[in-house]
Amino acid sequence: MKKFFAILLSIAMIFAFSACGVSDEPEEPGDDQEVTEDDELIEIDTDDEEDDQTEAEDETEEVVKENLLDPSEVEPRGDEPPTGDDKSIRGVPDLIDVLEYDDGDMLVLINKYHGSLPDYKPKDMVEVDPALATWSDLTMKKKAYKAYLKMYEAAKEEGFDLKICSAYRSYDGQQELFNNALANYSEEYAHMYSAYPGRSEHHTGLAIDITSASMDWSLRQDFADYPDGKWLYEHCQDYGFILRYLEGKEDITGYMYEPWHFRYVGKKIAKEIMKKGITLEEYLGKVDE
Ligand SMILES: [Zn+2]
Repeated sequence: MKKFFAILLSIAMIFAFSACGVSDEPEEPGDDQEVTEDDELIEIDTDDEEDDQTEAEDETEEVVKENLLDPSEVEPRGDEPPTGDDKSIRGVPDLIDVLEYDDGDMLVLINKYHGSLPDYKPKDMVEVDPALATWSDLTMKKKAYKAYLKMYEAAKEEGFDLKICSAYRSYDGQQELFNNALANYSEEYAHMYSAYPGRSEHHTGLAIDITSASMDWSLRQDFADYPDGKWLYEHCQDYGFILRYLEGKEDITGYMYEPWHFRYVGKKIAKEIMKKGITLEEYLGKVDE
């Protein structure tokens, strides 16, 4: 029986890729992905000044490769599938609130209960250097990207070869991914492994999925067991990122464990969150039932 669930989970793991922006079709950048202000690529500069955060104010899809969609490469961790009590498979709960506009809050929360309007557009977006990504036309918030570049360089010095495989996603882009999930799998699994449009943290421009050469540029849960995955988990906080979907916290986040999905919140808060081993929901006091 365990083997059966393991196989089922392996198949369902494909949605990890959908949930995190890996699609077999490139997503055309829409108007909502326009790059503002810094239309040029940001150069990597490790001597860049520190984040302009203060102690008091811690300001806070795609092609990739075909092997990403090969379920035989998926190695799920754990033997037991989620139970019927797992919030992650309860579908789409009613929204508590929605984001209407970007006010610059780096702690902005988008999950299954806190959504975004279809025309929500994060500000201060820049293009990710295609050389540092598995796909071109990725965009994300400038502050988060600058922080990522520092983390990337530090990882490189450790011998790790990282790439971003998903960053900002528009509502329409997420709708496409979710529809694809629904078309190919059960509704239950679609909800567990792919975010409903308007409920993906990737709408914030502050979330990225990171893969590496050692993973053959795929997204798998055993990334956590690889040296680069471990390094990211240990050091992401030093650059203002948190691992967003923790193992064992699925009932709070609403999503499965994703050792590749990092979220920028700023250094001070990232260190606090990672030190405590909590989720953003817990930090914000927004654990919704
Ligand atoms: Zn993600």
